Amino acid sequence: MLSFIKNLLSIFLPFRCHVCKSATEFGQVICPGCRGRLSQILLPPLPVSDIRCDFAVFTLSRYDSFVSDIIRIIKYRPSFRLLKVLTEECLHQGSLRSLIKPEDVLVPVPMHLERLTTRGFNQAEYLAEKLAGHCRCHFSPALIRSRHTRPQADCDETERLTNLDRAFQLAPGLNRSAFYKRKIWLIDDVATTGTTMLKCAEELKTLLPAEVSGLTVSHSFRRSARTI
Ligand SMILES: [Zn+2]
Repeated sequence: MLSFIKNLLSIFLPFRCHVCKSATEFGQVICPGCRGRLSQILLPPLPVSDIRCDFAVFTLSRYDSFVSDIIRIIKYRPSFRLLKVLTEECLHQGSLRSLIKPEDVLVPVPMHLERLTTRGFNQAEYLAEKLAGHCRCHFSPALIRSRHTRPQADCDETERLTNLDRAFQLAPGLNRSAFYKRKIWLIDDVATTGTTMLKCAEELKTLLPAEVSGLTVSHSFRRSARTI
């Protein structure tokens, strides 16, 4: 009976893969082919070196890949259900538990209230919360975005440096002792030059943690010139 109803609904309400647009089963936002491709592309945490941050940053994929398309769809469609799929696949990267320790604190890169109202969710916050559950460590939305800024991706190299000035603050009423001498992980979906993480870390370092590190789902490695 249930499958009959599902078949009937799929005739009137056809579901399509948000990524490749092929028909999917009722309620599925990604087809088995795209999901399989996503799980193959995601990597165990990979250290990033070509970034502005003065602390360690790890990525779960390279930006010039299929994952970047998925992140774009999550943000601009927007699709919370596709975010859930991406997060589930990220958590399958087994080595996350050896990288993030139970005493560590995961802090998402915050989103301004105006953008949060439009999109309905902050993908970095959802990811950080689920990661914290997976690694059995602490989660804290310790930062707020105090002013609306242009997306870093829309700025040129010079604008990126000043676009985020005074954009982040510690959340009011924070229990500062909960961060003292602990390792803080900044969590974001994408890191390009690392300016966002750098600005967030400046605020977090005032909490006197043991150290700050970053983890992102995707990073665009700068291409080095080929020698011929
Ligand atoms: Zn697909």
